Amino acid sequence: MKKIGFTVFMFFAMVLFVFPQWGHAAAGSTSIYLDGKGLELTKNGQVQNVKGNVMIPIRVVVEELGFDVDWDKKTRTITIQQSDTQLKLVVGQSTALVNGKEVKLAAAPKLVSDTTLVPLRFVGEQMGLKVNWNNEEKAVYLITPNSGSGNGTGSGENAGSGNEGQTPGQVPDNSANLANVGGISFSDNRLMIAVDKNVKPNIFKMAGPDRIVIDLPSTKFADSFSTGQLLDQTQNGYIDVTEYPDVSKVRYALFNDQPSTIRVVLDLNHAKNYELINNNDGLIIVNLNTDASTPGTAPGGNGKKLVVIDAGHGGSDPGAISITKKKEKDFNLAVVLKVQELLKQESDIDFVLTRSSDTYPTLQDRVKIANDLKADIFISVHANSGSATASGVETYYTRSESLSLAKVMHKYLVQSSGLKDRSVRSKSLHVTRETKMPAVLLECGYLSNKNDNAVLYTEDFQNRVAEGIVKGIKEYLGVK
Ligand SMILES: [Zn+2]
Repeated sequence: MKKIGFTVFMFFAMVLFVFPQWGHAAAGSTSIYLDGKGLELTKNGQVQNVKGNVMIPIRVVVEELGFDVDWDKKTRTITIQQSDTQLKLVVGQSTALVNGKEVKLAAAPKLVSDTTLVPLRFVGEQMGLKVNWNNEEKAVYLITPNSGSGNGTGSGENAGSGNEGQTPGQVPDNSANLANVGGISFSDNRLMIAVDKNVKPNIFKMAGPDRIVIDLPSTKFADSFSTGQLLDQTQNGYIDVTEYPDVSKVRYALFNDQPSTIRVVLDLNHAKNYELINNNDGLIIVNLNTDASTPGTAPGGNGKKLVVIDAGHGGSDPGAISITKKKEKDFNLAVVLKVQELLKQESDIDFVLTRSSDTYPTLQDRVKIANDLKADIFISVHANSGSATASGVETYYTRSESLSLAKVMHKYLVQSSGLKDRSVRSKSLHVTRETKMPAVLLECGYLSNKNDNAVLYTEDFQNRVAEGIVKGIKEYLGVK
């Protein structure tokens, strides 16, 4: 990357919600999902629970939602802006300004090392997010308006209830409008849900552990449901699955009662693709008999993992120019060629380089190589440039399914480079965004920094970083 695009929240992350019922939740085990996708919580500060107000790093939420954030170090003021809403919060103060009006906070923003924590429920709701807490999963579900995911609230499926645009909690369900779920079963590697009205399910995958979640907005369990199968007094039940290798259990519950939403979860033994069949004929089917291969299976069926390694820039594109007039493209290629030599020794890993000499494949070409090959992972190697004082390594990802790869690769990048840890970051970059497999972009140091630049072109540094990259690849792919 020639330039860093990060400005304001480079060193602070913030978030926090106020959940009265969170007193029981072990803060460290709380997960946050944005429109069904898990968010990074471990970098830039841990989740904190302050008198029942759970404070969580907001950096990823902020980045993924695209809020503008400004941090005034002198006055310790955080300004968050989105369209016509402006929030001003001050570290240590329990009053915030919403478009200039004072609002009391349940918990004051606080600074923990270099991370700023702010009340997430407050911020989320002020910014128009819907915030749900699932006590069973100890998880927060953030739902952006019109996302079409989450638990279906606000998506207008409550025909005739006229509650669009209002806080769901203020509007009682008209239970006559709800679809009844009459039965849930699993056979022939298919989940089947019987309903008596048209239902538009929201379905998404989650990892750690792998599962497929199906939310059924505007539904309730039919009165007859519990006579046919397990449903306890808290409206929870399950089906143990033994005869199908992909699935261990089907769980179902009344996930939300305003508006009434049933959630069905397929607990998987490994990540699995699915096909949703909903012809509005009274049966919703989630079919796991899909041809798409299980993630991790290499193309060609040889059982090997396939890694695409991308040396950034090249040819007519030099990338960043170092303070000693060296070209980024040469650093990138030198490291990638060293990675190549190491990967040749790995019998369980196949690899493809997007370039192995001083040429310039377009960004589209690089992505196409990886997508056409159905690579397991994509790793792009770069060096950064910024202010003279900026120093250290960063790992970028775009899609949340790349986060776990980013964390593993970054751990080894920090270790092997010996440079400052500038953290895993989320950013919309072509090669990490358009690829279809977990993909990261490594920034291995700053060519604009005297100390970083002095080591980046040394054999020793490049060998170490190449070794780190290969260690990361092996760990992520589970290759011994
Ligand atoms: Zn670059």
